[in-house]
Amino acid sequence: MSAFSSKVLVIGMDGLRFDRLIALDAPVLAGLMSSGAYGTSKLPYGEAGTPRTESPGEVVPKTPEPGDGGRVIRSRTDSGPGWSSIATGAWPDKHGVVDNGFASAQFAKYPDFLTRAKTARPHLTTSAFFSWAALAEHGAFGPSIDRRFVLDGYAVGWAEADAQVADAAERHLSEDDPDAVFVYLGDTDEVAHDLGPHCPEYAAALKAQDAYLGRLLDAIRARPAYPGERWTVLVTTDHGHVDEGGHGGTTDEERTVFVIVNRLGEDLGGRSLGAPRLVDVGPTALAVLGVALDPAWDLDGVPLEP
Ligand SMILES: [Zn+2]
Repeated sequence: MSAFSSKVLVIGMDGLRFDRLIALDAPVLAGLMSSGAYGTSKLPYGEAGTPRTESPGEVVPKTPEPGDGGRVIRSRTDSGPGWSSIATGAWPDKHGVVDNGFASAQFAKYPDFLTRAKTARPHLTTSAFFSWAALAEHGAFGPSIDRRFVLDGYAVGWAEADAQVADAAERHLSEDDPDAVFVYLGDTDEVAHDLGPHCPEYAAALKAQDAYLGRLLDAIRARPAYPGERWTVLVTTDHGHVDEGGHGGTTDEERTVFVIVNRLGEDLGGRSLGAPRLVDVGPTALAVLGVALDPAWDLDGVPLEP
């Protein structure tokens, strides 16, 4: 056994375009990249020309590409499929979430990584903080998670919901003893739907979320037990946006996603992770927690090794 206690924090920022992240002022994320490892990949699903929507959409096939091995994943590049892939480590043709309707979700067979961690190692403490209530309602982050802090961003307002999510997660990281934590921030997506990702409002939403992330990291570093802990922090998004705002289709702007991995206190030098995929996030978190991946789980993701 390691003398250190390994813990993981996964931060999701909805609809965060990587090129905008690079172009805009987000000092905490920039710091996580420069001392961590990161990369981008393209979602293997979506359809060009799909109209923007936040409601259940028509299920559309992706155009097969060389190297797909013939596997065609029918799904929109929407939040439901993205977060479900991040949570489960499997693509939409397995977990069944192909739009924001969650009609055919298979979370009993493909549970989220926090639920898997808890099942494998019941002494672990797991928690999830999010403002998209559908993720709780449909079980993308399931009821066995020790603590679920759930807001309805549509009712509260997404910027306000992010503030409350960040407050609750910060308190939790300061006062409790979690092993695996997921935190969702959503205003970037809301602003991009309204105004696109090239406006000052999008920059402001990103900057606010970046500051919340900084507070969470400060809370971790201030933990009395921190010297004996080894924290891995992952940051990712569920999809991008077209320049005009909106997603669902297959443009590079919609399909490009990123994963950042940082081991707090360790300098990974900003190296490349290759092409990390959303389905690699959950397996990476499980590996940090010492949970062996069972081939019977039929996951698509593998642990990232920065
Ligand atoms: Zn989204």
